[in-house]
Amino acid sequence: AKVLLTGASGFLAGWVLRYLLEKDYSVVATVRFQEKADYLKSLYPNKDLTFILVPDMSEPTAFDEAVKGVDYVVHTASPFHFKINDPVKDMLDPAIKGTTNILASVNKYGPQVKKVVITSSFAAIQDYSKGARPGHVYDETQWNPATWEEACTLDPHFTYCASKAFSEKAAWDFMEKEKPSFPLTTITPPMILGPMLHDVSPETINTSSSVVYSLMKVEGKTIPPTRVPVWVDVRNVAMAHVLALDNPVTDNQRYLVSAGNITWEQICIYLRKAFPELEGKVPTIPDESEEKEFFSTDNTKSIKDMGIEYISLEQSIYDLAKQLIDWVK
Ligand code: NDP
Repeated sequence: AKVLLTGASGFLAGWVLRYLLEKDYSVVATVRFQEKADYLKSLYPNKDLTFILVPDMSEPTAFDEAVKGVDYVVHTASPFHFKINDPVKDMLDPAIKGTTNILASVNKYGPQVKKVVITSSFAAIQDYSKGARPGHVYDETQWNPATWEEACTLDPHFTYCASKAFSEKAAWDFMEKEKPSFPLTTITPPMILGPMLHDVSPETINTSSSVVYSLMKVEGKTIPPTRVPVWVDVRNVAMAHVLALDNPVTDNQRYLVSAGNITWEQICIYLRKAFPELEGKVPTIPDESEEKEFFSTDNTKSIKDMGIEYISLEQSIYDLAKQLIDWVK
C-alpha cells in the first residue's frame, strides 16, 4: 500500500517515515525543499520512497497531484516555531489551509484513499487561560477555546497553539460538512522529545528538541520554569500515526498520545545523571517561582485502542541528549 506523508523533513515525520518504510509501505513524501528530499532519500536508497515538492501548502491546489493513487494520507506538516511576524501568513494560514486543502484534495482526487491521519497537538486541547490548573485532567473531549482575535494579538506561543486548535477543528468541520468517504484520525501529542532522525544543526534544531538542547548549555545555576508540563517520546507518537492507518477502531477518533507530566527540573536531573560531563552546564537549582503542581493528561484511550507502551522520560532524554552532546562540548 502507498502512503502520502506531508512535511517529511520534520522531527516527528522522520520517525513516521522510518516506521512506514519498515512496514514496507511505499511512501510519497512532500517537502518544501529539494535538499531535504535528497537527504531523506540517502537514508533509504533501496526503499520505495519518492518525493513531491510542495513549496506552499496554503495554495488550494497544493496537494491535488500528491493524493492521486495513494491508499493512506498522513499529514504532519505545520509551522512549529515562534518567529512570527505576521500571525496569519506565517502560522495560521499554512496550518489551517494546509489541513483543509489536503482534505479537499483527497475528497476530489483521492476516492481510493482509505484513511487520513492528521498530527494535531495537545495545544488543541489545553485551555491556556486556565494556567497550571492543578488537579485538572485533560483528555480527548476537551478543546483549546482560543479565539481568532487572541491568536492574532497574543504572543507567538499562543498563536502556534491556536493554529493547532483551529486546524484540527477545521478538519473535523470538513468531515461533518463534506461527509467524505474516508475516515479521519487525529493525534494530539504534548511536547515531543526523543532521538532525531531528520537533518538538523544547532541553528535549525526543531522547537521541542531545542528545549533539552537549551537546558544542556545554561551555564547558570537556576533551572528556568517549566513551559510545557506534559511530554511524550517521538517514537510513540510516530507509531500511533502508523498504527492508526489500518486500525478501524481509530476511525473518526481523536487520540491524546501523552506519556505524562514533566518538569524542566526532571530533564536537568536526567541530563546530569546520564552525562556527568555536563557539570556546570546543566543548572541545579529550581526557579523559585516555579509552579509545583500542574494539570495532568489521560492517555487511557491511546493504550486501549492502539496498545501504546509509553517510553520512559529517562530513556527519551538520554537518547536525545546523546545526539546533542557533541554540540555543547
Ligand atoms: P518540525 O519543525 O521538525 O517539523 C515541521 C514540519 O512542517 C517540517 O516538515 C516543516 O517543513 C513543515 N512545515 C513547517 N512550516 C511549513 C509551511 N509553512 N508549509 C509547509 N510545511 C511546513 O516540528 P515537529 O516534527 O515537531 O512537528 C511536526 C508536527 O507535529 C506539527 O504538525 C506540529 O504542530 C506537531 N506537534 C509537535 C509537537 C512537538 O513537541 N514537537 C507537539 C505536538 C504537535 P521544513 O522542514 O521545510 O521546515
